[in-house]
Amino acid sequence: MDDEHKPEIDLNLYIDELRELGLFIHDLENDIAYPNSFWLKLGYTAEDMRDTGFLRFVHPDDLAAVNESMVQKVGCSPENTGSRILFRIKSKSGEWFWVLSSSIGGRKGDDGKVLYYLGFDHDVTAEIEAGKKAEEALKAAESLMKATEIISANLDLKNTVDAILEQAENVFSFTSASVQLMKDDEFRIVGSVGLKEEFLNQVISFPQSPSIPNYRIVTDNKPYIVNSGLLDEYPDFLDGSVHGIKSWMGIPLIYNKKLLGVISFDYTEENHFDGTYIRLAQAFANHVSIALENSRMFEEIKALAIQDDLTGCYSRRHLFECLQSECEVSKRYGSPLSMIMFDIDDFKLFNDRFGHLVGDEILKKIAAAASGCLRRADIIGRYGGEEFVVLMPSTDLDEAVIVAERIRNTVENSVGFPVPVTISTGCTSMGPDDYGNIDAMLSRADDAMYESKAKGKNRTSVIKARG
Ligand code: GH3
Ligand code: MG
Ligand code: MG
Repeated sequence: MDDEHKPEIDLNLYIDELRELGLFIHDLENDIAYPNSFWLKLGYTAEDMRDTGFLRFVHPDDLAAVNESMVQKVGCSPENTGSRILFRIKSKSGEWFWVLSSSIGGRKGDDGKVLYYLGFDHDVTAEIEAGKKAEEALKAAESLMKATEIISANLDLKNTVDAILEQAENVFSFTSASVQLMKDDEFRIVGSVGLKEEFLNQVISFPQSPSIPNYRIVTDNKPYIVNSGLLDEYPDFLDGSVHGIKSWMGIPLIYNKKLLGVISFDYTEENHFDGTYIRLAQAFANHVSIALENSRMFEEIKALAIQDDLTGCYSRRHLFECLQSECEVSKRYGSPLSMIMFDIDDFKLFNDRFGHLVGDEILKKIAAAASGCLRRADIIGRYGGEEFVVLMPSTDLDEAVIVAERIRNTVENSVGFPVPVTISTGCTSMGPDDYGNIDAMLSRADDAMYESKAKGKNRTSVIKARG
């Protein structure tokens, strides 16, 4: 069949289907509009479309582009280039839709303006939302990856927690957030974002009381949201961010089934948090728990290196570090520095008689008794097996002798079991020849102590520094 004999297509027969597919026609010459199904779905009529009436419903951020592309280019430009543009439009009930609109102008009148134009609208809201979700998921994954890097690169707890919370800020919205560690019936803030400096200067710890929402995490051990009536329900809630937090979300921080604390997020409007927020926050909470555990282990290891694990006194290594730094302080300020060395009398016999384990208990008791005789600034370390060194900054020799005697007396009168236990002590202080020379001081204290042993034990001897 050649073209001439093909039957004519009467588009009027198909107009309903075409409108269903998204076709719209705007006949400016006759001032008639044929809206498509999308336009009707938005709740508008042909009347709302007249002239450039549709522009009223376009999102303000998209308006300039839509005007340029659909009105100027299609309606007025000399070349009939057509337009294809993606923009947001509001339905009559106030919902926003994404629409991909292609349009083209028809015949032009004497004034160069089109007499009609037509086009197709596609509702692509679902596709755009899906794309956004995928983008958000990608962003969340990237931020969590960064949080993992932060954990392995930092040992300082506050820096780590602050940086993890900053990553969470990229993923979901909150006005402020903080991490609170549970310690001795209190919550202690160990890191935060968005909290006011003045607040953090005043509040580091607060009690675990039922009148704050954080308490619910302790009792229920699961995420908890308060989206309204926060202060009515929890009158002691600490509003540490911008005044007027209205929504609150708390997630338990759990490691190895143990509740370590709470991570909480605040927002200044009601009804902000929902299940999606819990899921996202949970991922960051897991990272924070790991950071808390890492830091706890690090502190433990550090303490082990500093502390002697039997007696709780400083380790020999840390004792030497203290000797060095106190020597320097004393040298710089010319302040006195004294030392007591003591050793348990006949401890070998004691061990032989009662066994090593009882011996260990005695060592602990002696260390505790000696520590009880000291001031805060004094330093006591385990120098050897059953030898201890006490370092006393800003203390002269006479005062040190008094302390040495007090320790000796306390041990003699309070530690012995089942036979009396005594110690021999040696005292010295830093002299002008000693500045910076720890060994000279240690050696004098040692000599003084042996003098006590030689003179019959359970006594205090003194060797003064030269000069
Ligand atoms: P002296 O009065 O001369 O000091 O006699 P002593 O028996 O105490 O002699 P010395 O100081 O040389 O003996 C050290 C003893 O301390 C040997 C060892 O059995 C005991 N000892 C050292 N470290 C420990 C420890 O950690 N636990 C126990 N139970 N005993 C220890
Ligand atoms: Mg000894
Ligand atoms: Mg001894």
